[in-house]
Amino acid sequence: MGGSIHADPVTERAAGRPPGTLIERWTRRSRKSDLLAQRCLPEVQLAASLTNGECPICARTAGDADHLMRYFAIEGHGELEVLEGYRRGPFCATHGHYAVTRTDMASPLGAVQSFALRAGLRCDFPPPGRDRRFGAGADPRCLACRSLRETTLRFVFFLANLLHGTWKAGQYPYAGLICQTHLTLLTPHLSDGMLRPLLETCAVRLETASPPDSASNGIASLEPILRLTVGNALPLPAWPKPAGVTSRKPGDPGKDLLRDIAEVSSCPVCLEMARVMTHWTKWLGEAVNKQEIADLLPTCREHVWALVLAGPPPLAHRAVEVNRRQHLGHLGLALGKMPAARNDSLQRYPLALWRRFRDGDPSALSRAWLRRPSRCPFCDRLDVAEAETLALLGILLRLQPNRGLFANGFGLCLRHAARFEQVCPDNDVKHFVRSTESAKLALLSWELTVSARKNAWQWRPDPKGSEMAAPLAGVLRLSGGTFDPAQRFD
Ligand SMILES: [Zn+2]
Ligand SMILES: [Zn+2]
Ligand SMILES: [Zn+2]
Ligand SMILES: [Zn+2]
Repeated sequence: MGGSIHADPVTERAAGRPPGTLIERWTRRSRKSDLLAQRCLPEVQLAASLTNGECPICARTAGDADHLMRYFAIEGHGELEVLEGYRRGPFCATHGHYAVTRTDMASPLGAVQSFALRAGLRCDFPPPGRDRRFGAGADPRCLACRSLRETTLRFVFFLANLLHGTWKAGQYPYAGLICQTHLTLLTPHLSDGMLRPLLETCAVRLETASPPDSASNGIASLEPILRLTVGNALPLPAWPKPAGVTSRKPGDPGKDLLRDIAEVSSCPVCLEMARVMTHWTKWLGEAVNKQEIADLLPTCREHVWALVLAGPPPLAHRAVEVNRRQHLGHLGLALGKMPAARNDSLQRYPLALWRRFRDGDPSALSRAWLRRPSRCPFCDRLDVAEAETLALLGILLRLQPNRGLFANGFGLCLRHAARFEQVCPDNDVKHFVRSTESAKLALLSWELTVSARKNAWQWRPDPKGSEMAAPLAGVLRLSGGTFDPAQRFD
């Protein structure tokens, strides 16, 4: 652990820390009772990550999906709370895909899906928010996303507490830095006297980090910058992955979608979203040396890392450098909006309190700027692909012959069925899709029951058909995404 943990309270007040936050009061009380030397386990773990030079929140949350899935597989799938949680919101596509890659999840998935279908799944998923994100942690209804968010916020709280206890006046005390993705969560817990040095340290480290070596084809030269900007590599890649499905030559969008809805392998809206991801990555890879593409490059952690891992090296290097410049600009603007540091003697409590009472929070503008989500062109493109495909589907299904194709194909995944219900203006089409989806869910429920029975030893002479893949096929139906349940996926 770096820095002194016995900071002088007078010096800390001089550094501009305002009184009153929960963490501050707790820290002051701890200092008084001389408990500061006894850090709790999360704080010790966070300090170790900071000393190792990595983002402590990225490091501490990396194993969350694995922990949750292991609990789910061993005992969670029998707990009423987990079953009810799954019924209210099955895994998102990213966590659904991750569950399917695990060898311990097929049977538990079958059990919870069977329960959820018999207990009546709710199709009332809220519409996506304005600043929509894709990837782990982005879905408010997914059990695993909720767990990741709660774990992240818990560690952010402990990190703020650790920083309050070990802060040196006017100086950031650690070798490691929080990444820009997680910085926005930490800033509300910090006083102005801590926020300014932290932002300045972030800006200096980003500015002086050596630019990505374009001669190197590996990602090793990119990692130091990625750790400072979007954060560590994700333990599970977000769905859809670049090049996860083959893209399609431009043709007639209506006829192309009709071909997709006749497919039996996956939801046509999910398929189109995966194609868009493949197509954009391919196009950007070809355009990177020919034209300016900075406005099309991703900004979120999921998609920057997706390009780094799956895109051509020149594109990966360009994406990382553009991202670094964007974060530097963002930090520069936030620092520009921060109030100038005042004379130490003026920061003493009575005067600082009176000034805050009179003027309000002087750094509110800067803090609001830091919290402002930046647009990610990849997230936006996926959002648009979903909305346009659902709209086109609603139009095509007004014609009776197309309804037959839809009924004989896959239909829609549960999330897109719920989304279709919210956006389709035609009640007749909505009713048709609702009844088709209800029949598909009933068939899945039957297959899950039969496959569970046939798995039992006393039924071993029974022939086993495609119904045995129902627990994995159920992930495609309830969580969405694109993969072949007969082969799992890579
Ligand atoms: Zn991080
Ligand atoms: Zn999720
Ligand atoms: Zn779908
Ligand atoms: Zn994105």
